[in-house]
Amino acid sequence: MPIRRLPESLVNRIAAGEVVERPASAVKELVENSLDAGATRIDVALREGGRTLISVADDGCGMGPDDLLLALERHATSKLADEDLTRIVTLGFRGEALPSLAAVSRLTVTSRSAGAADAWAIGVEGGVVGTLRPAAHPIGTRIEARDLFFATPARLKFLKSKPTEVGHVTDVVGRLAMARPQVAFSLADEARTLLSLPACESGLAPSCGDDARLRRIAAILGKDFAANAVAVEAVREGLRLFGHAGVPTLHRRTTAQQLLFVNGRPVRDRLLHGAVRGAYQDLLASDRHPAVVLFLELPPELVDVNVHPMKTEVRFRDAGRVRGLIVSALKHALAAAGRAA
Ligand code: ADP
Ligand code: MG
Repeated sequence: MPIRRLPESLVNRIAAGEVVERPASAVKELVENSLDAGATRIDVALREGGRTLISVADDGCGMGPDDLLLALERHATSKLADEDLTRIVTLGFRGEALPSLAAVSRLTVTSRSAGAADAWAIGVEGGVVGTLRPAAHPIGTRIEARDLFFATPARLKFLKSKPTEVGHVTDVVGRLAMARPQVAFSLADEARTLLSLPACESGLAPSCGDDARLRRIAAILGKDFAANAVAVEAVREGLRLFGHAGVPTLHRRTTAQQLLFVNGRPVRDRLLHGAVRGAYQDLLASDRHPAVVLFLELPPELVDVNVHPMKTEVRFRDAGRVRGLIVSALKHALAAAGRAA
């Protein structure tokens, strides 16, 4: 057979397979976009667990009509101004989420940019982009994805029960919300409110303090964690680790309550989980796992986030240094708490 170039709509559907696995991954991409847009409030609404509708509305910077059109194109992004992949400071950078979602759902984007008098909307169905039309909307963006995977029935078959999918969405929004106590979040499936998280009152400060962060974490993970966690704070060689570590008696059956963030991005990383395990090694039975919420901050050039389309894996330039910091900071915090007890 001759080699041929695939049409854009098919390329987008192939890419969508990696980016949009289920409703939760669509919600993750949309909420990340809202955070990158500087939103202070993000409202997520689902119908049938996200199968028939996912709606994410924010009060971020919005988009003008030209940008609305561009946003739907593949590899179009406002986030790599200097084309430098070694200094990524936004959650998105691949320019893939919107075209991918547009390829596998009926997508509508409505947006009004800060300072603009009018809002605009555009729809995409089966990869075919409609025409821009004037709309009514406050400053910010609302993205609605209907009938997820209607164009890819094979993927549709892999969706689990509604409670399972809703659970994944709740996890995703909760994780992003933990790293941003200064942003208000809500999540509802039809009439049921799943999360309602007010923004912390930070005044003019760019972020909230430890207390506000712990309140946010408690609202998501439960009061049990907050009541049984010690504060972690350590700085070493340009790396900073902060957050909260459950005391050894708060052990769990799985690592599901080990929430790890790198520069504000929720990640799943074996190196980080391994470091947590190492720190608790002498304190827990080998089949039990601690609960921790840890935020690692480091210069963006010391970590590569361009590892996987879903952006949940990272590679550290100096893995040993990261591991050392985590193990020593956790041991120190737990020992101090043990002495105080
Ligand atoms: P990426 O986030 O990697 O840039 P996306 O496909 O997710 O790629 O989005 C493409 C572009 O659309 C973004 O770079 C941004 O400029 C714009 N955009 C998407 N969502 C929003 C939003 N909620 N508010 C403002 N701009 C947005
Ligand atoms: Mg994005």
